Amino acid sequence: MLDKLVDRRVLASLEVCVRCGICTESCHYYRSNPKTEHTPYYRAEQVRRVYRQFLDPVGRTFPGWFGAKATTDEALSKLAEIAFASCTLCHRCTFECPFGVETAEIMRVMRSVATATGHAPEMLVELANAAIAKGENPDFFRDFYIEQVKELEREVQDRLGSSKAQIPVGQEGARILYVPLSGAHTIVPQAILFNVARESWTLSMFETANYAVFLSDLPKARRIVERIIKEAELLKVKEIVITECGHGYPAMRWDAPKWFGHTFPFRIRSILEVLDEYVRKGRLPLNQGQNGEPITYHDSCNLGRKGGLYEEPRCIIRAVASDFREMTPNRIHSFCCGAGSGLVAVPEWTDIRLQAGKLKADQIRRTGAKIVITSCDNCRYQIGELNEHYGLNIEVTSISELTAKALA
Ligand code: SF4
Ligand code: SF4
Repeated sequence: MLDKLVDRRVLASLEVCVRCGICTESCHYYRSNPKTEHTPYYRAEQVRRVYRQFLDPVGRTFPGWFGAKATTDEALSKLAEIAFASCTLCHRCTFECPFGVETAEIMRVMRSVATATGHAPEMLVELANAAIAKGENPDFFRDFYIEQVKELEREVQDRLGSSKAQIPVGQEGARILYVPLSGAHTIVPQAILFNVARESWTLSMFETANYAVFLSDLPKARRIVERIIKEAELLKVKEIVITECGHGYPAMRWDAPKWFGHTFPFRIRSILEVLDEYVRKGRLPLNQGQNGEPITYHDSCNLGRKGGLYEEPRCIIRAVASDFREMTPNRIHSFCCGAGSGLVAVPEWTDIRLQAGKLKADQIRRTGAKIVITSCDNCRYQIGELNEHYGLNIEVTSISELTAKALA
């Protein structure tokens, strides 16, 4: 199995590390708690030992020379813990490594192995399976969902003071299929903005969350994405727009075409790109004065380093708020908040998650911001918990909500 998972990119990362240690300080786990086992190369080395045992010809012949190690059930559990709980796949270390070693990709392979051998966290497996079950029988959920959406539509109408505002579901021929997460906070502000911008849109039956991505279970990840692709084809939309979700956006935009082996007959964008376009084209009447408190922005690793969305959120924030302060460092060098790649969904990992988030908490405190914006729900949850744990006295919100608040 390992040989199928180790492609050239991973193989290069397994082979070229010279253990120089330059990446040590790049990892938020190490910076928050400096221990050898929190360094990127220590983690990757644990997987390299397995690789040497099974795939490296010299390691197979002379296991003692290169530390090749037998893989017992206990060893697999330990490796699974390393891959799932002590690396958020944030990719920051890759940008510090002179050879571009992708520790996160090595960890992703380890996650695949752990998932296939039954060592993945049960909670992530259950969440992925629930998403697949919903995709297999959407009619079972439809009436209840539409009832809930009607309630949210009334909230949108109240906030806009107009009974004409709508949240359409399943509307064939709409230009945009908007894919939310499961909370109202990913539907109401966006619906307000679509209505004000007079957009042609319809709400997806499904959520963009894809827990199989965290499990590195590609067949399941593909099935979860497929639900939305089929819906888009059925409704003949021109574009799929993904809500403010860290992993959901790169999964749909960058990974799905690879999983399916072709591109799709519709565009795929993040809501951030759409709102940025509305701002630039003057489609929203905005008043910066509505958001006068100091504000900072946390770059989600998935949207930023992996998704390339750095300027769009900043353009929107500058248009809707009057006191924007950058964290240092930011953009490509931004530190992970500590919750990425599924950590936030597993209660047993709360302590390690909060500890690894100390660096982000310190960064936020230094800005003096009272409001922290993030465009990923995992980051949003984590920063909310960091707020309580480290006493930051901040409010955490999304770009969509901040923009909806700035409507004149
Ligand atoms: S991953 Fe790169 S920076 Fe880190 S120890 Fe290996 S070669 Fe050095
Ligand atoms: S990918 Fe991120 S969390 Fe994982 S070792 Fe590198 S810096 Fe640390």
